[in-house]
Amino acid sequence: MDIKLIRPLTLNELWDTLYSHTDARLYAGGTDVLVKARQGVLYNTLVCLDGMSGLMGIHEHQGEIYMGACTTLAEIASNPTIRRWLPLLASSVATIGSPLIRNTATIVIAVRWLAIYSSGSCSEK
Ligand SMILES: Cc1cc2nc3c(=O)[nH]c(=O)nc-3n(C[C@H](O)[C@H](O)[C@H](O)COP(=O)(O)OP(=O)(O)OC[C@H]3O[C@@H](n4cnc5c(N)ncnc54)[C@H](O)[C@@H]3O)c2cc1C
Repeated sequence: MDIKLIRPLTLNELWDTLYSHTDARLYAGGTDVLVKARQGVLYNTLVCLDGMSGLMGIHEHQGEIYMGACTTLAEIASNPTIRRWLPLLASSVATIGSPLIRNTATIVIAVRWLAIYSSGSCSEK
């Protein structure tokens, strides 16, 4: 089976891609997607987010902290702003997986689990 890989660089390109490929699966660090692929879950189209600089990194502005969806767990664990203001988050993500996984995996899935649990639904799509 051929898998189409699309690599948008801007949010506009990302939205266009998602509108025109409704079956597409986002691919951030790939740690979950690759595990699923090994289990036989294959996607026709993967949208690779590694070129989306706007979704990466952490910055503080006027007392608010902004964290991109594609910020890696390792970055969060070592970021001075997070360690200062959100120490529980920094120490929690430092316990996930191995250093190799934390260098690749992004925060997005943790946020998704929060959304799933806080909505009262425990089923993952
Ligand atoms: C060996 C190993 C150990 C692990 N240990 C742990 C652990 O201890 N605790 C734990 O919680 N997890 C663990 N994981 C799971 C995994 O590392 C995390 O869930 C990780 O945060 C996934 O991030 P990712 O960027 O690799 O996601 P991906 O695999 O790229 O994507 C995961 C899912 O999120 C979707 N997605 C990706 N980016 C976005 C986005 N920007 N917006 C919306 N949806 C998006 C994808 O389509 C996919 O469905 C482990 C995984 C492995 C392989």
